[in-house]
Amino acid sequence: MIDLDRGRYWDEAWNPVTGCSPVGAVCERCWARALVRRAPKLHGPGPFEHPRLHDDRLSAPSRRRKPTVFAVCWLGDLFHERVPDAWIQRALDAISSTAAVRSHGHTYLVLTKRRHRLVDWGNRLRAAQALVPGLWIGVSAWDGVSLAGATSALAAAGVQRTWLSVEPLITDPGPQDEIAQALESTVGQVVLGGETGPGGRTMQPSWVRRIRDACRTAGVSFFFKGWGARCPRAELRESLRELPLDETYDPVALVLTPRGLRTIDGETHDDLAWHRTCRSCAHVIFDTTTHVAFCNTCENHRNWHPKENS
Ligand code: SF4
Repeated sequence: MIDLDRGRYWDEAWNPVTGCSPVGAVCERCWARALVRRAPKLHGPGPFEHPRLHDDRLSAPSRRRKPTVFAVCWLGDLFHERVPDAWIQRALDAISSTAAVRSHGHTYLVLTKRRHRLVDWGNRLRAAQALVPGLWIGVSAWDGVSLAGATSALAAAGVQRTWLSVEPLITDPGPQDEIAQALESTVGQVVLGGETGPGGRTMQPSWVRRIRDACRTAGVSFFFKGWGARCPRAELRESLRELPLDETYDPVALVLTPRGLRTIDGETHDDLAWHRTCRSCAHVIFDTTTHVAFCNTCENHRNWHPKENS
């Protein structure tokens, strides 16, 4: 389930496609490949680099009655070159079939690094979004070039409810005003995070601040997932209070990130466009920008209007 303290912004992974091949240096430490290596049943027989289509998993969202934020094909890429068009359509049909059941209220986070194929699917994705208000279309970015490419692809596809997963950010994302310009009127949500695990590539604090501030300028929801392997020492100020702050203390030095640390300049950033709470009962509602969100728990949910809550 969603666990903001741990930087988790979705409830359940839904993997009708597993397996993927690298698109570049960003994939060097692919966590999906590492996970499948530890738990081969998640993918089944055959190498991870050959995507597998799991017929038996297509109906999973329709069987789940509780409104759920699904991470779609997190163990692969729905738009991988080896995934046939007909299969992508079947996955979209499975998503669309849940729209008829209002109590589902599911949210789907589609994410791809194959942005060119996403553009080809623009019309069909728009048709699915017209049926499913909780369908979010996302593209991955990891540096300035991919960020510009991702926003251009989303604009070219003409889809609504768009998001960027900037994770892991491994290179300079470029000037702040250019980032803001690229995000404005194209992207609804940015999720940013560094590369985790031993040897994770360092994400410089100045890059993080530029993306955070660009989101503010462009009016885009910003969720900071975490620093990854290293963070600025100043972010540890709470725990460092216990330690002597002598002349060797350097607040900008990068140190190993302690578990659970998700602050930038002492602040957390948990703004998620698809995850907001009901004003009446504080339970989570599943917001959509087309205002059909509702609260399953609170008796006043019929009077609730997401615009007032945003
Ligand atoms: S695109 Fe994603 S899933 Fe595919 S190899 Fe790269 S990191 Fe892994």
